[in-house]
Amino acid sequence: MSVNRICNFNAGPAALPEPVLQEVQSSFLDFQGCCMSIVEISHRSSIFDDVINDAVARTRRLLNIGEEYHVLFLQGGASLQFAMAPMNFLTDGRFADYVNTGTWSTKAIKEAQILKKAHNVVASSEDRNFAYIPKNIKFNKDATYAHITSNNTIKGTQWAHFPDTGDVPIISDMSSDMMSRPLDMSKFGMIYAGAQKNLGPAGVCMVVIHDDMLKLIPDGLPTMLDYRTHVSKNSMYNTPPCFPIYTVQLVLKWIEETIGGLAEMEKLNLKKADLLYGFMDATDFYRPTADKDSRSLMNVTFRLPSEELEKKFVANAVDNGLGGLKGHRSVGGCRASIYNAATYENVEKLVEFMKVFEKNNG
Ligand SMILES: *Cc1c(COP(=O)(O)O)cnc(C)c1O
Repeated sequence: MSVNRICNFNAGPAALPEPVLQEVQSSFLDFQGCCMSIVEISHRSSIFDDVINDAVARTRRLLNIGEEYHVLFLQGGASLQFAMAPMNFLTDGRFADYVNTGTWSTKAIKEAQILKKAHNVVASSEDRNFAYIPKNIKFNKDATYAHITSNNTIKGTQWAHFPDTGDVPIISDMSSDMMSRPLDMSKFGMIYAGAQKNLGPAGVCMVVIHDDMLKLIPDGLPTMLDYRTHVSKNSMYNTPPCFPIYTVQLVLKWIEETIGGLAEMEKLNLKKADLLYGFMDATDFYRPTADKDSRSLMNVTFRLPSEELEKKFVANAVDNGLGGLKGHRSVGGCRASIYNAATYENVEKLVEFMKVFEKNNG
């Protein structure tokens, strides 16, 4: 196929595995012999039932969980989960602990504030512009949940190990590292992820929620904002985003069958990150912004000696077929997002380009 594709380091929406895109393309007009497209069939059809049920089954296998967890596909993005979690779990005098590790955590905390739900910010890395993940955090034993952001897409940090919260279930926003490594799900009451970083196209949010969490939900919430609605209807209370869910299903299949599961996925992600960070650690020209022990394997944020050089770097990269390297507008600098779908070969190409750019500009 003579299709021109760049090495895509976008932060989100982001690169998807090429075999997945090819399968979407080849099945687009006639989905599984039904003579209609996936975007033309009823979500009440048995064909779509098979899609969503397979996506749920694959999620359960990859995360090594059983029926005690419910796998949901919701709309409103991760951003709606910032509000739904406190709405659903924080009534009757209950409260939550939050850790603030960057832009997305801050937004999650803001929703609890807006809803006037009791919460503590038990740790924050704001003092150093969120360049690290806080350690030795004292969580409250009687909190209903502890909320963290497992990977900080904008600041380029990631929890290498999840904190010890005792018996308090963790709720984690995993938008930018969902399915990038194995998880001990027993620590989590709920995890959620907007699909457009690591799971699929924009338009769907994966939520994995433990059955015990459902018992906390008060009556009287708007139907669409009550997790029990979506659990009882297998995410099809209203019309679900069929196309994004189908693409997520293919991505999960790719992780299971082509990569070989989350342990293999993690190995590959470590190998890519080691290559990129290792190269930068050996030069003063590129300077990673996150503390070493807090570095993200997914979003590699770095600076060059000047903003002028950063601009030139991003522009030259595009000329060399490397896209998406500009840092988030709120922090500046550069960022290479190397999610699951970024290949080792593409990271090698990036490092080769970085060497040449340094030679010519250093
Ligand atoms: C992108 C992102 C979000 C926002 O996701 P939406 O699906 O756009 O609401 C939230 N949290 C993290 C960590 C993200 O990277």
